Amino acid sequence: MAQLGTLEAGSRYDLRVGLSPDAPDESALRDDEGAFGYVHSYETSSRYDGPGLRAVLFLSGCLLRCSYCHNPDTWHLKDGTYVSAAQVLERLGSFAPALLSLDGGLTISGGEALVQLAFSRRILAGAKRMGLHTAIETSGFLGDRVDDSYLSCLDLVLLDIKSGDPDTYRKATGRDLAPTLRFAERLAAIGKPVWVRFTLVPGLTDDPANVEKLARFVAPMKNVEWVEIQPFHQMGAFKWKAIGLEYKHANTAPPSAALVNRVIEQFRAAGCRAR
Ligand code: SF4
Repeated sequence: MAQLGTLEAGSRYDLRVGLSPDAPDESALRDDEGAFGYVHSYETSSRYDGPGLRAVLFLSGCLLRCSYCHNPDTWHLKDGTYVSAAQVLERLGSFAPALLSLDGGLTISGGEALVQLAFSRRILAGAKRMGLHTAIETSGFLGDRVDDSYLSCLDLVLLDIKSGDPDTYRKATGRDLAPTLRFAERLAAIGKPVWVRFTLVPGLTDDPANVEKLARFVAPMKNVEWVEIQPFHQMGAFKWKAIGLEYKHANTAPPSAALVNRVIEQFRAAGCRAR
């Protein structure tokens, strides 16, 4: 059995590689029990990843390959630290009073929260037992794996819909858009609160027609509380270099304030609450 590592506090911008060389490939993971899993890092005081003060757990493993990803060191389980769900919950328990007093909770992000489905479910269920508000951030690509009992552990889904146009989505992520849209429709059908997140990458996702497609898809969904525009940035660029991957966005500038405003206004004009 693999050796358990130490659960270290850190940041999504820490570079973590090669910590569990014996880990399975993320596309072949059998995660039936969820007692153990692979973690990139965790943060204790985010104001950005859900309501109130958030503890954010970044899991390893992602099946997308976004060309602008700021955490390519979360793609593979082998780069994460192997820990038990009990370790995670014990640590979370020590923050729970502060999170509760500031109307916050736990957000599981990544990587992709749904790669390690049973592990994330176990942690979410433990967080609920502590009385915490729970959220995951997900691309929705693996949404078909999620059953109703998983959804019952969740108060909010931060759903990254990276593009409205299927061709642009494939260009940006290497995958199909359809599973994400299917998951969004299912969440809308059961009224699960969602914040849609859209990464605005100049020259890739900023085409008005692309934004329009997404805005029209999201606008009728009453469960979508917010559409959040996430401006592309270069804070993860050093990771691509460190890992030895070709980074296509070395010369892509963050979007101007005018471009961000144009996109926010496009969503608003379609009837979305956007920021
Ligand atoms: S879904 Fe997130 S973690 Fe995965 S490649 Fe895209 S940006 Fe990176």
